[in-house]
Amino acid sequence: MPHILTDVLVIGSGIAGLRAAIEAGRHNTVLVVTKSSAMESNTAYAQGGIAAVHAENDSFESHAADTLRVGCGLGDAEAVALVVREAPGQIRQLQEWGASFDLEGRRIAVGREGGHSAPRVVHALGDATGREIVSTLLRQARSCENIRIFENCFAIDLLTDDGRCVGAVTFHEKFGHQLIWANATILASGGCGRIWRETTNPPIATGDGLAMAFRAGAVMCDMEMMQFHPTTLYVAGAGRTLVSEAVRGEGAWLVNRAGERFMLQVHPQAELAPRDVVSRAILAEMQRTRTTCVYLDARHLPASAFKQRFPHITETCARFGIDVTKDLIPVRPSAHYMIGGLRADLSGRADVESLWAVGEVACTGVHGANRLASNSLLEGLVFGTSAARAAAEDVARRPAASPVHIESRISPSGRTELDLADVRNSLRSVAWRNAGIERNGPRLEEMLEIIEFWGRYVMDKVFDDPDGWETQNMLTVARLVAWSARCRTESRGVHFRSDFPASEDQGWRRRIAIRRDPAEGLHLAD
Ligand SMILES: Cc1cc2nc3c(=O)[nH]c(=O)nc-3n(C[C@H](O)[C@H](O)[C@H](O)COP(=O)(O)OP(=O)(O)OC[C@H]3O[C@@H](n4cnc5c(N)ncnc54)[C@H](O)[C@@H]3O)c2cc1C
Repeated sequence: MPHILTDVLVIGSGIAGLRAAIEAGRHNTVLVVTKSSAMESNTAYAQGGIAAVHAENDSFESHAADTLRVGCGLGDAEAVALVVREAPGQIRQLQEWGASFDLEGRRIAVGREGGHSAPRVVHALGDATGREIVSTLLRQARSCENIRIFENCFAIDLLTDDGRCVGAVTFHEKFGHQLIWANATILASGGCGRIWRETTNPPIATGDGLAMAFRAGAVMCDMEMMQFHPTTLYVAGAGRTLVSEAVRGEGAWLVNRAGERFMLQVHPQAELAPRDVVSRAILAEMQRTRTTCVYLDARHLPASAFKQRFPHITETCARFGIDVTKDLIPVRPSAHYMIGGLRADLSGRADVESLWAVGEVACTGVHGANRLASNSLLEGLVFGTSAARAAAEDVARRPAASPVHIESRISPSGRTELDLADVRNSLRSVAWRNAGIERNGPRLEEMLEIIEFWGRYVMDKVFDDPDGWETQNMLTVARLVAWSARCRTESRGVHFRSDFPASEDQGWRRRIAIRRDPAEGLHLAD
């Protein structure tokens, strides 16, 4: 097996990984591995934008207060203050690297989204913010001599030596298995939305990083907190294309089949209520009216301004015969953003030595129990930068990375009889039904039993391609979600238990942290 040495290994080429790579590349050799093309990530699909204080009547205090309020008592005030303060500087840096954000006159244009008390969402090319950011960061990373990027290179597992992370074992489409030895490893592998049947996430989001970090002994936090996005396009064949929150921010209404606005009775902010409130209200309205979706109504908004602000959404709808200026847009909620992840401190440091976690794979406490719209791209930029700086300090203190002797007794498997597509589809249905927008004890218990049963014949297989590894990772992460959700016997933020519908501040204003236990599988961490 080939050995590759680097100062810093970055796993993932979304906003967090690329930002970390660029920062680390100032002083260190960096290798970025990414399992698909470098452009493919959740980041590339982000529409709405990045939250940052720009308007004259806005303030850091207000952005922080909104973030903590929406986080329902679980947010970490220090982490929130850090991202909010760093936001305008990060936006300026992206502009210096060539990112073209939308302007109003000579100033950056800022939009309003749900939960924000002021317009502060910076966007690019209307609703193609993510794509603009990834291309900017990729261009910048590729111009740096210290940075190499391996595309189609799947990280299978982290390598640990005496509890310290020393790199990863990867599988490259062309070159096969490789051992990558690094002094610092920055995990930026994104979320796990593909575990749910309905999701806005692209196929890369199978939770690989979460699963491999759990296997390596990292502490995982808030894994019950999957945020469901209220409005994804519900048209057979369209995938679950997101219809950005910014559409409601610009004034679109949510209506039922009879054309009635139902959010007015639910929350004082109506359509701009926090995402968990809107998602549950849509679910309730669908159940009440016995329909499979509700609708976004943008017909009263100025047509040309809408098309200019949301060209991607307008075009996607048009492909399915929906004219957004004349027709209702069918939508329903789906799994969107994993709030939980590797517990990480203010510099992104995880609980395994020499391992950092940034972006959606991490749990820094910024989002608490519910993420404020447009805060996750921001978190990726800020923590990507600070993790790389901390990693560089660490690298400077150590001798260069070198291979550690390892023994592998694993032999490649023969043809497996498993129908992996069926395992995945079944898991995704179970997760949607049992650990979806509304959960309860018996359903979560059932999900854990099902996963345990399927795990008996899926987890002991030795696969030799990403399809199998991803399926195992999805099962691992689904178990962490169900276990944590069963544990939290209250409702808070995105976690709604129909058998415990109230928040219990006395016992539950705390985070659930879990760690692998070689004997019992899972246990609560300190
Ligand atoms: C449709 C959509 C719209 C969104 N809109 C917004 C928005 O407007 N504003 C906002 O703030 N947030 C938004 N979000 C959320 C935000 O995009 C993500 O949370 C954020 O981009 C995550 O960035 P990341 O770098 O952590 O992960 P990602 O961007 O998902 O990148 C993860 C990377 O890791 C790689 N990877 C994964 N597993 C492996 C493996 N085993 N080996 C090697 N590589 C691996 C992937 O290929 C990918 O390159 C949106 C999300 C979606 C899906």
